[in-house]
Amino acid sequence: MFDLNLDNIDTGLQAPESEPHRQYHYMAKCRKLVAKLAAVKGRKLKYHVETFGCQMNFKDSEKLEGVLEAIGFEAEESEKADIVIYNTCTVRENANTKVYGRIGYLGKLKKQNPDMLIALCGCMMQEAVAVEKIKNSYRFVDLIFGTHNIYKLAELLWKVYGNRLSDNRAEHRHRMVIDIWKDTDRIVEELPSVLKYKFKAGVNIMFGCNNFCTYCIVPYVRGRERSRKYADILKEIRDMVSNGIVEVMLLGQNVNSYGKGLEDPISFAELLKQADSIDGIKRIRFMTSHPKDLSDELIDVMAHSRHICRHIHLPVQSGSDRILKAMNRHYTAADYMKLIGKLRDAMPDIAITTDIIVGFPTETEEDFSDTLKLCEEVGFDSAFTFIYSKRTGTPAAAMEEQVPDDVVKERFDRLLEVIQRSSEKRASSLAGKTVEVLVEELDREPNDGHSCMLTGRLENNLLVHFKGCPDMIGKLLNVKLDECRGFYFLGSIEE
Ligand code: SF4
Repeated sequence: MFDLNLDNIDTGLQAPESEPHRQYHYMAKCRKLVAKLAAVKGRKLKYHVETFGCQMNFKDSEKLEGVLEAIGFEAEESEKADIVIYNTCTVRENANTKVYGRIGYLGKLKKQNPDMLIALCGCMMQEAVAVEKIKNSYRFVDLIFGTHNIYKLAELLWKVYGNRLSDNRAEHRHRMVIDIWKDTDRIVEELPSVLKYKFKAGVNIMFGCNNFCTYCIVPYVRGRERSRKYADILKEIRDMVSNGIVEVMLLGQNVNSYGKGLEDPISFAELLKQADSIDGIKRIRFMTSHPKDLSDELIDVMAHSRHICRHIHLPVQSGSDRILKAMNRHYTAADYMKLIGKLRDAMPDIAITTDIIVGFPTETEEDFSDTLKLCEEVGFDSAFTFIYSKRTGTPAAAMEEQVPDDVVKERFDRLLEVIQRSSEKRASSLAGKTVEVLVEELDREPNDGHSCMLTGRLENNLLVHFKGCPDMIGKLLNVKLDECRGFYFLGSIEE
């Protein structure tokens, strides 16, 4: 790990070319500047990072916060901070509309505080049309960067501050810095990061995606698939465990294809096996798995592991072979059912969750019935169900025969009913049992001076609420599931 005492870095020298040394150089420069600005204001400078979207974005935000804290900023809950960063998502078209509204609000805050610095990053910024709109309509934004150069935050901030300080003319003070890369194979390790929880953390194992499902924007905004070296991943997990982390979630758009393209490749199953043997690790989760790449080796490793949670999120998307082909998913409903059979043969208690899209272009009633049939047969523990949303820039958006809204809505409601039935059935089969839960947060403050309500997570990802003390947060406890309330439980600690 690099020395985070940035005061040891000689900022008078030219910035090194190699990473992450270059970023440490800029962090040290920014740190001096931030200290000066804080002295003028007579208080510490504050940052606020707002994250939209998925686990990958949340992980990226931890990296942004790590750099901000290293250069002397302090976290602030509200958007009335000295620097506000929106880490955006563009998975659905209406996600963008929401972000434009929020940027407008930031503009109002900036009128009250012209020193405020506004930065936008994440998937939406990888879209040329979004950047163009911000350039024209939100000219008060100071910095735009993308998903591939998150690690460059310190260098980019230095540029923004440089613009501000080198020229006092108002029009130049707000010169927007834009740095968007189309794609990269670069992975920069060993930069600071602030973990949201002290007991669980996400670990990136790969970035990007090569699958080009026809409805998905990810390969266009997060680039081609590239894996981190397994030695770096395992070291990161070991470091986390020695700092008190008990649960890790291995993250990637398609974890089952981990390792491809590495000079010294290992399979995802092998990576899991090695993570499972790390001393002190208690729980390992992973997402997301693509059914086409789920191997027998992986099922075997899961079944024989000590710490890999008996839960798999396996997005099926549709039960119709015709629609799966149009989605470019490379498996059939029968292939999927075969995998479910293998998983349950190896681990009868495994929880299986999924993603399903309703109303993909050309979906007929017959296609939809196939989806319902598959869901009935699998009996999912839960599912993220989505109404198909036309995503400009994807092949599906150009497909004719988009399904009318009222038809999609009606199908969606029918699907929800089926999923709810199977979720309730699966959850209620656990009622009365005692299971191990990871205590995650305080649900309600103590009201009798001693106990309060806590929330814990089961291995299958469901939640249980029970009485306990705040110092139990982060611990694994045995909790009796007294009552099933559909998608969560009420329980009590088993002495
Ligand atoms: S596997 Fe398909 S749905 Fe998942 S990120 Fe890649 S392209 Fe998108």
